Amino acid sequence: MTAEDARRRRWLLWLFLIESRARDQLNVLMIQCRPRGRRPFNTARFVVGFAKILNVAHAAAWAIGLTLNGKQMATTMTAPRPDAAARAGARAQVAQDAPFLESFVADIDAGKYVPAATATPANPPRPDAGQAQIAARADLYVKRVYNSIMKGWLEGLDDAANALDVESIQIAWITELKPCKDCKKLGLEGPYPFDALPTSPGNGQTVCLSNCRCRLEAVLKTNPKTRSANGGADVVRGRG
Ligand SMILES: [Zn+2]
Repeated sequence: MTAEDARRRRWLLWLFLIESRARDQLNVLMIQCRPRGRRPFNTARFVVGFAKILNVAHAAAWAIGLTLNGKQMATTMTAPRPDAAARAGARAQVAQDAPFLESFVADIDAGKYVPAATATPANPPRPDAGQAQIAARADLYVKRVYNSIMKGWLEGLDDAANALDVESIQIAWITELKPCKDCKKLGLEGPYPFDALPTSPGNGQTVCLSNCRCRLEAVLKTNPKTRSANGGADVVRGRG
């Protein structure tokens, strides 16, 4: 296993840990907010609690992304602490999702997740009916932490490129095994100049939404005076 493989495995493990922690916290929140007696699902509590969970998860993911260019990637299993850039990135992610979260909550309040139509007096709906659907939809927001890794990586790449006196950066969109039609197109039309990347994997602009697990890969063209021994093209990988 090369050092690059080891590094990739480590950050995929971190992604898994960040998502798992967010899901555990979401499960607890779902119990805290579930309908009791005549009181419906507590959406006010849910929206505040869920935004907190997402904020922490996005900041952790962003911090992982920032380290992928090797700047502060440690050899330990300790995840990097989110710095100011990571926290700002997380806030932007949660703000981007806020309108969708609002309509999600409006749907809960409107009774979308209570299967009242199938209930009869003899067979009343369970008080927790709809909880599974709410949790499933909430999970789409948890999956967005992957996009924070990608965005953190892009930001870290920009910083690293500036420090290395890089002439140009091209970003390739590497599709996953069975890409959606949008990702397929993004893959074929690349690589893109750094500033012209149409979107990032899992950012919600593709049909696959937050389920996207495509990755980005950069080819840096360094200036002749700082060119390294390998001929100048340094490949930096986002995920693989
Ligand atoms: Zn994709």
